Amino acid sequence: MKPAPLTCHSPTSLDEALRLLHDIGSEAKVIAGGQSLVPVLNMRLATPGHLVDITGLPGLDEIRVGAEAVEVGARVTHRQLERSPAAYAALPLLRQTLVNVAHPAIRNRGTTVGSIAHADPNGEMPMILALTGGTVTAVSVRGERTLAAADLFVGPLETVLEPDEILVCARFGRFPEGTRTGFTELARRSGDYALAGAALAVQVIAGQMQQARMGFVSVTEVPTVLDLTDLVAGRAADQSAAVAEAVVERVHAHIDPESDIHATAEYRRHLTGVLARRLLTDLTTGEPARTSEEALRGAS
Ligand SMILES: Cc1cc2nc3c(=O)[nH]c(=O)nc-3n(C[C@H](O)[C@H](O)[C@H](O)COP(=O)(O)OP(=O)(O)OC[C@H]3O[C@@H](n4cnc5c(N)ncnc54)[C@H](O)[C@@H]3O)c2cc1C
Repeated sequence: MKPAPLTCHSPTSLDEALRLLHDIGSEAKVIAGGQSLVPVLNMRLATPGHLVDITGLPGLDEIRVGAEAVEVGARVTHRQLERSPAAYAALPLLRQTLVNVAHPAIRNRGTTVGSIAHADPNGEMPMILALTGGTVTAVSVRGERTLAAADLFVGPLETVLEPDEILVCARFGRFPEGTRTGFTELARRSGDYALAGAALAVQVIAGQMQQARMGFVSVTEVPTVLDLTDLVAGRAADQSAAVAEAVVERVHAHIDPESDIHATAEYRRHLTGVLARRLLTDLTTGEPARTSEEALRGAS
């Protein structure tokens, strides 16, 4: 199918884009990479009369690495972020995860901020924003507001953003010294959305685990992060297998996936436990998480 007739606007400044969104109202939709929106339009699941294309706006194409966070502008594609040496050095979890997002062709056009605005529970980057304690900045003609990930996502494909707001950037928080990170997921085919996925950030100091947080993909309606610190703090990293059972129990107590045409709830639940155990033991015994490492090799 083709989209319903619409008018595409190509503003050349942020002010012009914000004014268009405000004046047109709920009939307008922001378009960035189009990798999620265009299929939705083609299937006529949405029929906005106007698109406001933000790919021509100046100043939204930067990746800024600061002491506290990696800031990603709204025009930065998944691929640009994945390939950024500075972002990788500051926050390896970005690349570890991004190589699992769709296919390279889609990552070449799709934006990381667009993926966050889209808020797909099967999308990896909304969860990574939450796991890193990140924030986004939204602007409209009324001004600017910064939202924590925990306040942004309210349901599947649903955020608190108003129709006339543009997300200008996302800030992924950096982890403290000694933090090891990894991402792993299982999809039926490479590049497909995951049946289940998980990311872990665990701090290891002098051979002992300290803080630990785990986030999940495709098994929760909104990005969900579990704090595992009380289960692992003070335990020897190379003995992490001894606490893996308790971690899996915590995961199963909080993660309650649903069945769909791709997998049953029971299978996703089982898989989430397997991925959680694998991430913990791989990261703390010095072995990189398997699927991320394989994907990284493929991307280099
Ligand atoms: C075959 C296929 C497989 C895919 N697999 C995966 C996958 O495995 N994992 C994954 O995470 N994603 C996957 N995607 C989606 C891909 O990551 C998209 O690029 C991303 O979700 C949206 O980014 P975009 O820039 O293309 O946004 P668009 O498609 O342009 O927009 C998506 C939505 O976000 C809104 N939006 C976009 N940018 C902004 C902004 N700056 N401010 C406010 N609103 C905004 C739009 O209005 C729209 O509602 C897949 C897509 C395809 C087609």
